[in-house]
Amino acid sequence: MNSTEQRLEQIRGSLPPLAHNARTLAALTTNPGCARRAIMDAAGVDKRAVAARVGFAPPYGQSPFAITRTRAFTAQVKANGCAELLRMLREVLDLPLPEVAYQDLDDAGGNESQEVRHALARTVLGAAARRTEDDFGTLFDHPLLRLPVGGRHVFLEPDLIALQYRGTFHIIEIKSFAVIDGQADGGKVAAAAMQSAVYVVALRRLLEDLGHDPGCVSDRVVLVCPENFSNHAVATRIDVRRQLTVLRRQLDRMRRVDELLASLDPGLTFDLAPDRDGRPTRPAGELCAAIEDIPARYSPDCLSMCEMSYFCRQEARGSTHALGKSVSEELGSVDWIDTALALADGTAWPAPEQEEAATVLRTALRMREECLGAPA
Ligand code: SF4
Repeated sequence: MNSTEQRLEQIRGSLPPLAHNARTLAALTTNPGCARRAIMDAAGVDKRAVAARVGFAPPYGQSPFAITRTRAFTAQVKANGCAELLRMLREVLDLPLPEVAYQDLDDAGGNESQEVRHALARTVLGAAARRTEDDFGTLFDHPLLRLPVGGRHVFLEPDLIALQYRGTFHIIEIKSFAVIDGQADGGKVAAAAMQSAVYVVALRRLLEDLGHDPGCVSDRVVLVCPENFSNHAVATRIDVRRQLTVLRRQLDRMRRVDELLASLDPGLTFDLAPDRDGRPTRPAGELCAAIEDIPARYSPDCLSMCEMSYFCRQEARGSTHALGKSVSEELGSVDWIDTALALADGTAWPAPEQEEAATVLRTALRMREECLGAPA
């Protein structure tokens, strides 16, 4: 174990590292500038438990209803040897295939070890990458993939299907949110695209390690969703090249986590000091100080994707960052809402680097007063 790994282990404390999945890795990219999240995730800290201990338990999680709906829809799409899925793939990938083979990689001869299941996926997918032009195509269900995150290998829970046909792999992601009149919720599509990009990166890495061209994994993924309010499934191809770039940049940043660690207190830890029953005993004030030791970059987007968001929102109260990316970009070096208000009404004089923002603020205030009919 090197010094970075030891340091991350100390930061995590006595609990085992939290497992990542495509959803948590995708969430990493939503706020790539946040050192707090980068370090806590690289160390595998249970952010939900830490936030709860300091009184800011996140009130969300995937609802049981959504989980049940996703399972039912996935089972429907995969029924009868993935017959419905194959129908859609023929259309979106223009496949001249009457049928394809199907192999479930979830079962490694009854061995549930992640290492063994990953080894099985390596063997099978590596062999598939060597297939020739006259291959009939195979759907691989539940391949257990792996990615290095912050110096640790993270197994990705296998909720995807990969189609290999004539030397090209296509990632297929099944989601239960609806496409209504050809339109789906943009945020949900973006999240699904990022999760698919995680699988593309992981599958490319696996094949590259085995000496294959990583380019044989397509950067256009297939998203399968229910159509309108029925159970009828519809498939769409999504280009995830932009997501791949963002993801690679963030994984690279986490590889350089030692640079982020260098500026922190060497004794920093999020250890909850659990008692014999697993209940945390660490004083909340001490834990708060540990959290605040790592700089954060809160924005309203955090609320939907990070377990620390209620803590960070409270901490960022009064800062212009808390108002969102577009406001904080517009206001540049004006970090506090009080300062912005004072610059707007002329009770504060701007520093040279705040001149531009001050002009925008004064104009905005004047327009507001004109709209409201008040004297300027
Ligand atoms: S909620 Fe806090 S820790 Fe999480 S990404 Fe946002 S600022 Fe960073």
